[in-house]
Amino acid sequence: MEFSIPAKLSHDGERFQEFLDEHLVPNLAVWYQNGMIPRSFLARMGKGGWFGFKMKDSLFKKLPALREAIIFERLAKISPGVAVAVLAHNDLGLVGLWLFGSEEVKQKYAALAARGKTLLCLGNTESVAGSDVAGISMTAKQVKGGWVLNGTKAYITNGSMSDVAVITAVSDPRAKRNIRLSMFLVDLGSEGVKRTKLHKQGWIPSDLTRIQFTDVFVPEDHLMGERGRGLQQVLTIFTYSRVPITALTLGTAVGAFEMALVHAKDRKIFGRKIAEFQNKAFDIADFYARIEAVRLVLWKACWAIDRGRDFRLESSMAKYLAVIIAREVTAWAADLFGAASIIFEHPIHKFPMDAWAVSLGEGTQDVQKLIIFREVMKRYGDMTGGRI
Ligand SMILES: Cc1cc2nc3c(=O)[nH]c(=O)nc-3n(C[C@H](O)[C@H](O)[C@H](O)COP(=O)(O)OP(=O)(O)OC[C@H]3O[C@@H](n4cnc5c(N)ncnc54)[C@H](O)[C@@H]3O)c2cc1C
Repeated sequence: MEFSIPAKLSHDGERFQEFLDEHLVPNLAVWYQNGMIPRSFLARMGKGGWFGFKMKDSLFKKLPALREAIIFERLAKISPGVAVAVLAHNDLGLVGLWLFGSEEVKQKYAALAARGKTLLCLGNTESVAGSDVAGISMTAKQVKGGWVLNGTKAYITNGSMSDVAVITAVSDPRAKRNIRLSMFLVDLGSEGVKRTKLHKQGWIPSDLTRIQFTDVFVPEDHLMGERGRGLQQVLTIFTYSRVPITALTLGTAVGAFEMALVHAKDRKIFGRKIAEFQNKAFDIADFYARIEAVRLVLWKACWAIDRGRDFRLESSMAKYLAVIIAREVTAWAADLFGAASIIFEHPIHKFPMDAWAVSLGEGTQDVQKLIIFREVMKRYGDMTGGRI
């Protein structure tokens, strides 16, 4: 067993930190105030090769999952909000294109999207259904040369700034629940698309948008994967993106934890540094141990992906545990700053809300428990000859 990070990935992590120190850290306060990330930042990410894909000899290639985990932890330590915008483009949109895009749409969008010139997002959640993906109501009606989409996607990260969206819709309303949906790549510049930016508190400065589709025409080659397989396809995308969102969650916890440590070593109360109170010292020990445990489960999931193994159990366990620690440590860290933590501009202020938001992407805590339970029972079912 080898626990060290390969030298190349470690070097990439250090180079990425330099990139963040130059292009993110000095600008973040302004983006936070304005509630928006300039597209130029995402184009810089693409130019620097920091998305999870590259084009080589006209082939669209996915980079190692461990590299992505390192990148997302570093990014979210500084800004979980910027990290989620990168994730929506890269791990929902681009992963969808990589897994299910037709050759025609890959030729059209992949190279530009990998460089951050064309931005992508994914719209699945509606006001009527989020966790229950099969319960969505948006319709896709087949017409000559393509499809016509009608309905509203309720909460789409990057929805205002994206050029193209991966969209799920009911193509076969009379079919069984698991074969009713199909997936489409939709040009958001199309006639009939209306976007409304939502006012939210968490994951600032990323944008969250409601997108209404009224008789939006989608050409036939923009059907992604297979007709009737939209449910399975979107769940597959979420299975992949569960790993980077776990790294984002871990980064959220670590960002708040490290900020609080600096403060605890510095701030004196009743004549002592905060870190010198034994209950705070024990909190620090407890959080450090649990953060490290989450990182190990996450890296195990990356190890499985990079070797082509099944990673469903590890990625759900990692996300479930990461959300618990992130929620606890961010609330604790904010509390350590006392009244200052309530000020919008204070750097610790964002972390508790960002940790709250992480449970919603790629499946809530209840959904993770359902997946873990299913995977565990498969294994115990095998061991007990199906008696459980
Ligand atoms: C900031 C933000 C960004 C987002 N970005 C996107 C995006 O880019 N694209 C997109 O499509 N969606 C996005 N979403 C939506 C997100 O994916 C959904 O909020 C999430 O899937 C949960 O769905 P829901 O909100 O409808 O809650 P519901 O599914 O209605 O869940 C409500 C409650 O029921 C629980 N629950 C659900 N199923 C079960 C069960 N089987 N057993 C027990 N309890 C259960 C849940 O855990 C939760 O506590 C975003 C949400 C937020 C907050």
